Amino acid sequence: MGIQRAADLLSAARRGLAFTGAGVSAESGIPTFRGEGGLWTKYDPVKVSSIDSFLADPASYWQVSKERGGIALAAKPNPGHVALAALEARGNLVAVVTQNTDGLHKDAGAKCVIELHGSGRKVQCLECGSLEARRDVQARLDVEMPPRCRACGGPYLKPTVVLFGEPMPSDAIREAYALAEQADVMLVVGSSLVVYPAAEIPLVAVRAGARMIVVNAEPTPFDGFAEVVIHGRSGEVLPEILSLIGA
Ligand code: NAD
Repeated sequence: MGIQRAADLLSAARRGLAFTGAGVSAESGIPTFRGEGGLWTKYDPVKVSSIDSFLADPASYWQVSKERGGIALAAKPNPGHVALAALEARGNLVAVVTQNTDGLHKDAGAKCVIELHGSGRKVQCLECGSLEARRDVQARLDVEMPPRCRACGGPYLKPTVVLFGEPMPSDAIREAYALAEQADVMLVVGSSLVVYPAAEIPLVAVRAGARMIVVNAEPTPFDGFAEVVIHGRSGEVLPEILSLIGA
């Protein structure tokens, strides 16, 4: 029922917009933060993911980030990412706004991807500003902790992701708000919808008149605003929606 209704809404959409969170990458093997098996059942988020703790002790940050970075770099898009890219290619979505930093939407072929929390594929030196591929930094973590900047030798090499206590990139926020204000269908996938200001985006769309579809493994605080709520795995639900639209 819900899947057919979601397919109907998306096939009639003229400016459909997807908003995704860590759940869409769970089936690629990247642990979420919250929800069953989420990383925050193991770590204190402020200790491991805030700018203050990074600056105080970059080595401890990298000890935790080493494992997660390795998993994210090795991950491949799953059928959920592929279905979203196909919905964009068909014109049912105009863009994907994501909280994820793993790069998997683009790897799946999505063209217009707004990364609200930056990208984990690059690392930047906070002292001299030089950029390096995360893959190259990752490769030397066994022998260098914290990793040092290749240009200036400084110890503050930070992935180009938004840590707690840092502002979101203003261009990404502006673009995401503009897309949300113009959206007629808002497809929310794999997000607990508790991280602000990112979680504002679907609300902006709904306030501007968009009809909302939520696909998530567990209930979210926005389920009450949605026209369709599907509790399931995005790697299964999204390909089903796509195949109904295709049919
Ligand atoms: P979250 O971890 O808070 O919530 C993830 C949600 O996804 C949960 O509600 C969970 O029930 C649901 N979920 C789990 N598996 C699913 C599946 N297979 N299909 C559908 N839903 C599933 O994630 P969030 O809302 O994105 O917010 C947390 C922050 O975590 C974000 O800011 C993001 O930057 C960051 N993060 C990113 C990654 C990544 O890049 N892959 C991974 C972990 C965390």
